[in-house]
Amino acid sequence: MAPDGDAMGSALAMWHYCKDRFAERGKVKSESGKWSVTVIVPNAFPSFFDWMPGAHEIKIYEHEAEKCNKLIAEADLFFCLDFNDPSRIGPMGARMLANPCPKILIDHHPGLERGKWKEESERGEGLTEIHSDPEACSTCEIVYRLIVESGESIVDGQIATCLYTGLMTDTGNFSFNSTRAELYDIIASLLRAGVKKDEIYDAVFNQYSADRVRLTGYALHRKMRIYPEHHLALITLSADELERFHYQIGDTEGLVNMPLQISDVYYSVFMREERAKPGTPKSRIRISFRSQGDRPVNIWASEVFHGGGHMNASGGEIYGTIGQAVRLFEQSYKKYLKI
Ligand code: 5GP
Ligand code: MN
Repeated sequence: MAPDGDAMGSALAMWHYCKDRFAERGKVKSESGKWSVTVIVPNAFPSFFDWMPGAHEIKIYEHEAEKCNKLIAEADLFFCLDFNDPSRIGPMGARMLANPCPKILIDHHPGLERGKWKEESERGEGLTEIHSDPEACSTCEIVYRLIVESGESIVDGQIATCLYTGLMTDTGNFSFNSTRAELYDIIASLLRAGVKKDEIYDAVFNQYSADRVRLTGYALHRKMRIYPEHHLALITLSADELERFHYQIGDTEGLVNMPLQISDVYYSVFMREERAKPGTPKSRIRISFRSQGDRPVNIWASEVFHGGGHMNASGGEIYGTIGQAVRLFEQSYKKYLKI
C-alpha cells in the first residue's frame, strides 16, 4: 500500500531531526563521520509527495529489496512510524523483527494490544519504546510533541513542512478528526517556523492529472451504488477501468470520502482491483472504509477484510475478484453497520 502524507511526513520529519542531532552529538558511525539515517517505505509513494524535503532520499523496499535488507540487518535503531503491526509493512516487517536492536514505535492507530507486536515481543523481538496515542490526529502530531518534549522548539522549516503535511492530509485539510484546540497551537508554531501552508495544499491537492479527475467523475457517475436504508455507499473500480484512465499510484486517494458529501450517507466503501502479479493466481482487492461520527468501520474491516485502522477510516483486502469482495460486503454490512 502506498505511504500516505502522514507516513511520509512523520518519517521525513524524524529523518531530518535525527540526521542533524546524531551528527551534532559526534557519534561516529559512517565513513562520513555521521550516523547515517535512512527512511525506508514498503512501496512507492504517490508523485504528489515528490516535492517533500528529503523525498528523493527515501528508499523504496519493493524497488530495492536487497539494499534495504542490508540496511535493515545492519541497523542499530528503528523508528516505526504510522503503523502498529509489522505485517503492515509487508516483508520488511519480518526483516526488521529479525534484527534484535531497539525499536521505537510512534503511531496513532488503535489496537496495539491486539496487534502482532505482542507475540513478537514475547519472543524478545518487540518494541523498546511505544508512543501510541489514538487520540492524536496524526503520527506527525505525536512526532511534534516528542520533539517539543525533548526541549526543542520546531524552528527547522523542513521539519515543520513535513509535519504540517501529515496534519493536513490525515485530517482532510482539517475537516475531520481535528477539533482539539491544541492542534491549532501546533499549526501556529509550524507557521512561525516557516511553513507555507497554501503552497503545501496546492502541491498535494491541486496537481492532479486530467485522467485522475476524469476517473473520479467516472467513479462517482457510473460506479457508485447507494444502500439508502443503511446510509451506505460503495464504489468499485476494476483493473481494466483503472487502466482506461492511465491509473497512477495515488489517483484514487480521497475518492472514498466523496460519497460522504451526500446528506444521508454516513458510511462509504471503495474497492480497487490490483491485477495479479506474475506467478500469483489472484487479483488483490484493496478496500477502504470511511464513516462519520460514532459509527465504527474498523471492526468490519478487521473481521471480514483482514484489515483494520481507525474508527472512521480503515482498510483491508481480499485476494479474488471484485465480485467476491462485493458479495462479502453485501453479506456482512448489516451485521457491522448501525442504521
Ligand atoms: P486507506 O483507506 O487510506 O487505505 O486506509 C485508511 C486507514 O486504514 C489508514 O489509517 C490505514 O492505516 C488503515 N488501513 C488500511 N489498510 C489496512 C490494512 O490492510 N490493515 C490495517 N490494520 N489497517 C489498514
Ligand atoms: Mn496516520
